[in-house]
Amino acid sequence: MALIVQKYGGSSVADVDAMKRVAQRVVDTRNAGHQVVVVVSAMGDTTDDLLDTAAQITSAPPDRELDILLTAGERISMSLLAMAVNECGVPAQAYTGAQAGIRTDTHFGKAQIVGMVPERVARSIRDGQVAIVAGFQGISEDDETTTLGRGGSDTTAVALAAALHADVCEIYTDVDGLFTADPRIVPTARRVRTISQEETLELAAHGAKILHLRAVEFARRYHVPLHVRSSFSDKNGTWISDRPANPALAGLVPQAALAANQEDPMEEPIISGIAHDRSQDKITVVGIANSPGMAARLFELVAQQGANIDMIVQNIPVTLENRANISFTLPAEDADHVMQALEAAREELGFKELKYNPDIGKLSLVGAGMRTNPGVSAKLFGALSQAGINIDLISTSEIRISVVTKLEDLDRAVQAVHTAFGLDSTESEAVIYGGTGR
Ligand code: ASP
Ligand code: MG
Repeated sequence: MALIVQKYGGSSVADVDAMKRVAQRVVDTRNAGHQVVVVVSAMGDTTDDLLDTAAQITSAPPDRELDILLTAGERISMSLLAMAVNECGVPAQAYTGAQAGIRTDTHFGKAQIVGMVPERVARSIRDGQVAIVAGFQGISEDDETTTLGRGGSDTTAVALAAALHADVCEIYTDVDGLFTADPRIVPTARRVRTISQEETLELAAHGAKILHLRAVEFARRYHVPLHVRSSFSDKNGTWISDRPANPALAGLVPQAALAANQEDPMEEPIISGIAHDRSQDKITVVGIANSPGMAARLFELVAQQGANIDMIVQNIPVTLENRANISFTLPAEDADHVMQALEAAREELGFKELKYNPDIGKLSLVGAGMRTNPGVSAKLFGALSQAGINIDLISTSEIRISVVTKLEDLDRAVQAVHTAFGLDSTESEAVIYGGTGR
């Protein structure tokens, strides 16, 4: 018997029929002899619909009230799913985030989990019930209702799995797992069978939309094995674990999948996947004094705007006497504030010009094998140059290389690099089962 936390995303519970199908899956897992805790997202596009409704009332809803509103979506699905599971003859109880003991700070809209006391959930399990927990929400020390940020139900699930010492956290979605690239851009993308948490973290941090970033951080910190899979099929999905050989999981993975993993040479690839990101903009500060302290002052101003900088490049053009150009990328939603703050400091920083470019895209190639295999950057740059794509900025970590291109070149760049690294699949594996893509 294993303890399994199952998280179902919005497209898996989009309507009553979907809800009943999920209930059946929960019951099947129980009948296979496992204990089950379920975390559920709001039905379909409910969260977006609630945001739209609020926007019809005010253009600036108070953060506190918005959070209370948004938690309603998950409360609807948790209670309906509990009813559906009960209807199948298995006792189930629904819990809000607060009841499930998910304690957060008070940063409305992006609260961080500061403690987990899932006592009522644990009691449900002991009593032989299925506990169904509303995702994406918690309660702060001063009793405020908070949300964990868009996509936060993944984090609820992994945090619960960690606190309850679950054997695995299954993330059910509308695709068959993680793919080597977004199947909407690369139809020949292949399903990744196993991947480390470290690589998943890099992919999620650089635009891959499959998992909430903080969920992966939690999984890594507390060694929670994740299984990302489709609720619309019975296929084995993607196993995300830094300890893939955990024998406790043996019974949970179909034997055929284990065998396939061992035989398939693709299981030790140099590259695990390609993420892309269209959400960043670029700012270039032209002709800033090339003297100590200037970069510090520049980025202090940027940090004061709460903007997280991704890539930074400085160059010293020969034409400008003792002056440098500094380019950096940042989330598009922060660009306006940052441009204004820099403009206001023009005299202090003594730069000549401020340039803003929203039309950039970022491609990130991720793979733990990069550590030990030379030539990955050469191959990447070669593939891009063959496709006639110019590289604007470059940044690297031990297991990632990111490049910034023109936005209009991004899709082609992803396709070219996917092919160059031999990631194309011959079967069409990528099926998108549900979701409205909202
Ligand atoms: N319902 C929330 C959202 O749409 C949380 C989640 O689905 O994970 O972002
Ligand atoms: Mg999600």
